[in-house]
Amino acid sequence: MTLTFAPARPRALSLLKPTGHLTLGNYLGALRPMAATQEHSDCFYGLADLHSLTVAHDPARLRALVAEQAATLIAVGLDESTLFVQSHVPTHSQLAYLLECVATTGELGRMIQFKEKGRGVDSTRASLFTYPVLMAADILLYRPEQVPVGDDQRQHVELTRDLAQRFNATYGPVFAVPEIVTPPTGARVMDLADPTGKMGKSGAVDGPGVIRLLDPPDVVRRKVARAVTDSDVGPGAVRREREAKPGVTNLLDVLEACGGSAEGLTTYGALKRAVTDAVVAELQPVQRRYAEVVADRAHVTEVFARGAARAREVTGPVLAAAYGAIGL
Ligand code: AMP
Repeated sequence: MTLTFAPARPRALSLLKPTGHLTLGNYLGALRPMAATQEHSDCFYGLADLHSLTVAHDPARLRALVAEQAATLIAVGLDESTLFVQSHVPTHSQLAYLLECVATTGELGRMIQFKEKGRGVDSTRASLFTYPVLMAADILLYRPEQVPVGDDQRQHVELTRDLAQRFNATYGPVFAVPEIVTPPTGARVMDLADPTGKMGKSGAVDGPGVIRLLDPPDVVRRKVARAVTDSDVGPGAVRREREAKPGVTNLLDVLEACGGSAEGLTTYGALKRAVTDAVVAELQPVQRRYAEVVADRAHVTEVFARGAARAREVTGPVLAAAYGAIGL
């Protein structure tokens, strides 16, 4: 069976891995742009719970994080999209197995995560070795024309293209080979306590330089007040200089990304107050909406059930074509 259909509207696809509490970095760098993409694309946004299983995990925590992130996606206005939990759409793991029969141990052994975190360690989960294939399935099932990726994801999408091309050449033209596009460099929010590293998803214990999307205003205030700056007190100290003044530059980036302005600010104290106000103003509507959304769990369940049903419907024919081509 050969698939000839092309999606009517361009498709956008993005999966978030529920391994921690979403941060201001996730919001400015991912969720807000994902909401804007809805205007011109048919968006599929998923919670990649299967990808959270490649390292030791706590089942109860995973379940709680999926519930929290599901409500958050709705709270930031992504419910115009097809929202789903990856494990509720079995075509993902089904296609992953077929692609494992096309991928080689050599190429998977060269994937960065495995090389850095798993190779040579007997207790490494086999899924840390194979998850890039699951990621290829995540993408290929939706036939997006383009996949926007940052540098850290490039290797994954290159593998996805290789697997699609190899499958097509060996068994017939089933997959659309997506183009890799580099998105305009968006806001990269750095850790307030260590502005040379990115603000990563926070673990069970809050990092002092990580603002969670759901942090109340007084917590935001405290974290911003403690943000690392520098000892420059001269006139013009409040300025961007990424190498020499990473902390101050990051605060200015956050301020502007949250709609604030640094005009007239001369001291770090004033800058931090302005950053706090801008971040609180940006997050408060999301937090208010989040409180409403979690109060109606049935609605969240319904939105995600509908999304999973559409995802199954859209991906089913692609899986069926792959089954047919490979001889099943
Ligand atoms: P991660 O939390 O690293 O799994 O990333 C999930 C999404 O959020 C990806 O699209 C990242 O590019 C984005 N993201 C994560 N942390 C940041 C950050 N500190 N600044 C900007 N975007 C981020």
